[in-house]
Amino acid sequence: MKMTHTVAEQPADWTERGVFPVAPGLYRMPLPLPLVGLPAVNVYVLEGPDGLILIDAGWASQEAYDRLGQGLAELGHRLGDIDTFVITHAHWDHYSLASRVRQDHPQVGLVVGRGERETIEGYTSEIGIHGGQSAQLRRHGAAEIADRVDAKDREAYERDVPFDAPSRYLAEGDRLPLADGSLQIEETPGHTKGHLTVRWPAAGMLFTGDHVLPNATPALAMELVPDEHPLRTYLDSLRRTRADPDALMLPAHGPIGGSVHARTEELLAHHAERLTEIEHLVAGGSRTALEMARALPWTKRERKLDDLDVVHQMSAVMEVVAHLLVLQDEGRVRSQTDGDFPRWVPAR
Ligand SMILES: [Zn+2]
Repeated sequence: MKMTHTVAEQPADWTERGVFPVAPGLYRMPLPLPLVGLPAVNVYVLEGPDGLILIDAGWASQEAYDRLGQGLAELGHRLGDIDTFVITHAHWDHYSLASRVRQDHPQVGLVVGRGERETIEGYTSEIGIHGGQSAQLRRHGAAEIADRVDAKDREAYERDVPFDAPSRYLAEGDRLPLADGSLQIEETPGHTKGHLTVRWPAAGMLFTGDHVLPNATPALAMELVPDEHPLRTYLDSLRRTRADPDALMLPAHGPIGGSVHARTEELLAHHAERLTEIEHLVAGGSRTALEMARALPWTKRERKLDDLDVVHQMSAVMEVVAHLLVLQDEGRVRSQTDGDFPRWVPAR
């Protein structure tokens, strides 16, 4: 499909503070995040028939809360004018600021994908946000990393983040009316089980959340109750996005405006390459996911596993596991349970 729409020019640094027009009826407002290596989240502002529709919200810090209010004021609105927050997934850098705004403005709607229900309802500050993932890590022989993840979850700094249930869960095919046209909900699980992308067909645009990011490969199954086969799930979602009409990419993190299809192809190619690398490691004698994670380079800067922070070490090991499970599906490796956890060997 030929895209006839374009986006307005944006600042060279996508994190620059401000409210930037993207297209008629659409603004982008980057809000700051208190996270190492991830400075901001794009919040998109649209006009609905009964007030503003915001796609993603940000982290519930005082700074982000104030900036959201100031940004809306620049557009002649107030926080109370928000009709609905449409959140692509339940991660705190997307969801928690919406939860916080609703404490002050209870009439504001908050909707998120139905696949997030278990993770949202299962959360307590006692088990932290990574309880399910650290259990998975232990099952794959990386107990030492799991211990450090659990210890980090017990730290207090994230305890105060508001994380309430949404007003409604969304499903594939749901539509949300806009002043001009409507938004269409697509279920694209992988990064989390309930991840949504939001299509604006009238504008030829797709709000991709963290499903398709321009500058990063999304981590998989970062959730309290994780998908047990997340790469298979994610690859299915990428293939679905590739089969849907192309659109301009409006990601939650990073610069806007590229082709969704072009970036989706790159992500599929990245995982195909990673599958081959891991298959070779197994052929070369690596037996555990942890060993393989130690042998592979991580992040764009090709860092070693032990140089990553503990949450990224966890997601790196689980990403290797996710690839091994796909290789097993494809008959390229098999697992032998030896002692407490699987050891991976060539299929023949
Ligand atoms: Zn995110």
